[in-house]
Amino acid sequence: MKELLVISGKGGTGKTTIVGAFAGLAKDSFPCKTTVLVDCDVDAADLHLILKPNVRETNEFFGLRRATLDSAKCNNCGACRKVCRFDAIAEHEGHIKIESISCEGCAVCFHICPNQAISMKDVIAGRWFVSDTVYGPLVHAKLGVAEENSGKLVMEVRREARRIAETLESSLIICDGPPGIGCPVISSMSDVDLALIVTEPTVAGIHDMERLYTLADGFGVEVVLCINKYDLDYRISADIEEFCRTHNIDVAGRVPFDEEVVKTLARGEPIISPGHTSRVSQITAAKAIEQLWAEISSRLFV
Ligand code: SF4
Ligand code: SF4
Repeated sequence: MKELLVISGKGGTGKTTIVGAFAGLAKDSFPCKTTVLVDCDVDAADLHLILKPNVRETNEFFGLRRATLDSAKCNNCGACRKVCRFDAIAEHEGHIKIESISCEGCAVCFHICPNQAISMKDVIAGRWFVSDTVYGPLVHAKLGVAEENSGKLVMEVRREARRIAETLESSLIICDGPPGIGCPVISSMSDVDLALIVTEPTVAGIHDMERLYTLADGFGVEVVLCINKYDLDYRISADIEEFCRTHNIDVAGRVPFDEEVVKTLARGEPIISPGHTSRVSQITAAKAIEQLWAEISSRLFV
């Protein structure tokens, strides 16, 4: 079983569009047969908007344990408020209150309270789902507003995707990675067979791509690159290619800007669906993504 991670240094580079197209291409490809899809962008998941999943399983995700106050036991002495370094405990009209959203779960208040009025409780921080799509199973998640621990949730959805892939004897997992270079990206990188960095020819794009490559290289992940909308700025695209030459990164694809892609996504459709390869000829960018897929799959299944 192979695992492909598609990542970008920032959001909006077309990463999810490419993953959606790969899902369609993989569905029609031997030896992929059943492909398991996983959306690791748990803070702002959007792969489901293209793949139209039918959710068949919902699971709760518990993040930090948080302080909870039992007002009946509290004498409002204020000792806990003095020790909370995160300003999560406030006093309002003589009564102590804990702002759950600000609590970092350090448990100092729990230990210091003379009346055992504070307990540390598991709090639901999000949910993750197993869904059916016409492309194969999709594991995706939704982290609650202002919740942290997205790296832990990424680990959870990846673990489930692997379990499903093993059960189905799948040959491929395609992972839509989180943007940026933070904790969720690090969680999505471990043990992948190949990472495809999707970038675009903008000053921010090239800067973020360099940082992401440095991160992936530090983790020993094999990296190839795709320049999306490369024809929007040939000069910056040339700079990206020069960076790749000097760092021995293969540019696996160059996808042109194509208004048909925008229109297709606005209709909530993937630009390539299984069994609809005829549409590829109508969308210039889809042809380039088809070539990119051929390059990626030949690397994965040599
Ligand atoms: S330390 Fe305990 S008793 Fe004192 S205000 Fe905090 S919760 Fe209430
Ligand atoms: S657990 Fe830590 S962060 Fe949360 S309220 Fe208590 S002292 Fe503050």
